Amino acid sequence: MSPASGERPAPLLPDVDDPVAGPFWAAAREGRIAVQRCLTCGLLRYPPLVGCPDCLGRTFEWQDLRPTGTVWSFAVYHRALHAAFTGQAPYTVAVVELDDGPRITARMVPGQRQVAVGDRVRATFEPVTAEVTLIRWQSL
Ligand SMILES: [Zn+2]
Repeated sequence: MSPASGERPAPLLPDVDDPVAGPFWAAAREGRIAVQRCLTCGLLRYPPLVGCPDCLGRTFEWQDLRPTGTVWSFAVYHRALHAAFTGQAPYTVAVVELDDGPRITARMVPGQRQVAVGDRVRATFEPVTAEVTLIRWQSL
């Protein structure tokens, strides 16, 4: 739904009550990165899924990962991708390969635009509402 003229659109936020991804967001709220680990083949996977994309196993547990990794790719957005981001450009979104394997896409901390593939980063956790905390990457 479009907001009324001149009204700022509501921020785009994840559904923290989603039955599959909810535990990821609960961990982020506590300052942790947790991903699913397949109990059949051991694959660490992100984003959260109902089944394992490698072996189709349906059982998993949540495992905390180290909050550090390496920039695998990035993009600098000079125009807002969505009306909810109006006024925030330019901003940088990076795909970071965590030291424990999975790749997670998130924005760099505000104001940090000088990024290169291979840069070392650490996750920081930005509470944006009482329920939602987002990951931001900070260069090391
Ligand atoms: Zn598996």
